[in-house]
Amino acid sequence: MENEVSVSDLSVINTSDFMNPMVTQIWSNGRHQVRCAKVIYETPDVCTFTFSMNQPVLFFFKPGQFVTLELEIDGERVMRSYTISSSPSIPYSFSITVKRVPGGLVSNWLHDNLRSGDSIAVHGPVGDFNCLDHPAEKVLFLSGGVGITPVMSMARWWFDTDSPVDMVFAHSARTPRDIIYARELEYMSTRVENFKLHTICERTEIGQAWDGYRGLLNINMLKLVAEDFMEREIFCCGPAPYMANVRDMLIAEGYDMSHYHEESFFATPKEDVIAAVKNADLAELEESQPKQFVMVSFPEEGASAEVAIGSNLNEAAAEAGVIIPKACGVGVCGACRVKVLGGDHEMVHNGGITEEEILEGYVLSCCTAVQGAMEIDY
Ligand SMILES: Cc1cc2nc3c(=O)[nH]c(=O)nc-3n(C[C@H](O)[C@H](O)[C@H](O)COP(=O)(O)OP(=O)(O)OC[C@H]3O[C@@H](n4cnc5c(N)ncnc54)[C@H](O)[C@@H]3O)c2cc1C
Repeated sequence: MENEVSVSDLSVINTSDFMNPMVTQIWSNGRHQVRCAKVIYETPDVCTFTFSMNQPVLFFFKPGQFVTLELEIDGERVMRSYTISSSPSIPYSFSITVKRVPGGLVSNWLHDNLRSGDSIAVHGPVGDFNCLDHPAEKVLFLSGGVGITPVMSMARWWFDTDSPVDMVFAHSARTPRDIIYARELEYMSTRVENFKLHTICERTEIGQAWDGYRGLLNINMLKLVAEDFMEREIFCCGPAPYMANVRDMLIAEGYDMSHYHEESFFATPKEDVIAAVKNADLAELEESQPKQFVMVSFPEEGASAEVAIGSNLNEAAAEAGVIIPKACGVGVCGACRVKVLGGDHEMVHNGGITEEEILEGYVLSCCTAVQGAMEIDY
């Protein structure tokens, strides 16, 4: 990773190129080297990092999608996913908003080290949790803490594009000074009829005035915030207990959960994905049946390994000496994508790969089980 960009690197940026359609490229899912353009201090423990490229690129993505950062920290390659908090309506850059996690490696490293001019690698954009794939006339955004990032991207998109979508935005924070994007949200709510803002604070501290909702989101509050919530498409993101509470409230009210969408920042994979990733059933199978071995090869690298049928492809690659970077490990982030040149396999992913990519032969190695001899392009 190059963390420092020299003055000569920066001097190659020719801003007039940015208006030239002939040289402007469009961002697509893959690995990209991007430059941190600015760092914005949102709240005491939350920062926004804005990225662009030296050549003109239009960062198109679906509002709500995420990228996976590939960093080198203390000589180790680490990967973490972060939602794109900006909107594709401002296409020459994109932003992520990161909250410090106590004891967390990457979130604290980003806060303490990443500065304007630094260059890092990102993978993406990917993600099913987005407002383009779930169109609706009326929506309710429910967010808690830094879970505001994907729904803010959606709200910014509809606000900037003068969309008629009727938006109710209910955000929960610990205290008034922890409300991320507070001023921008207020600004949006004063400009258009179709954006209604409600902020809920768990508590206030001495010296803080607060005339909004207090406590934790409950059903009475939800009815005050959006009395017609049963008719709205709901996008929810926040800490696990917050989302569990929202789900319980909606189910108790008889809400049609096919209109409910949520994003978890702490991967909660489906049961079948856990089985595919961990090969949980394999251990039992191994005891009752003799193992069958097949070859997994990487022609480009001149590497191969003999592995048991049912092995995880990412681990099989490591056995062959090919380290495919992975982040979430459960088929969410898309960081470990490789192309299958041939061979039987079974993938159970969690939305980190598109149908088009699958048709082109790509798989996410972290959630793919080897079923026969395979050739991989990496
Ligand atoms: C799709 C997606 C989107 C996301 N979007 C955002 C976003 O917009 N903004 C955002 O801030 N985050 C987001 N996240 C979360 C983000 O990816 C990271 O998980 C988060 O920043 C924490 O990473 P970290 O490296 O700082 O913490 P980690 O180092 O992964 O640690 C996490 C926790 O585990 C504890 N821990 C670590 N190692 C050990 C150990 N050996 N023993 C015991 N405890 C340990 C740490 O103390 C910490 O509490 C998103 C995640 C996903 C999957």
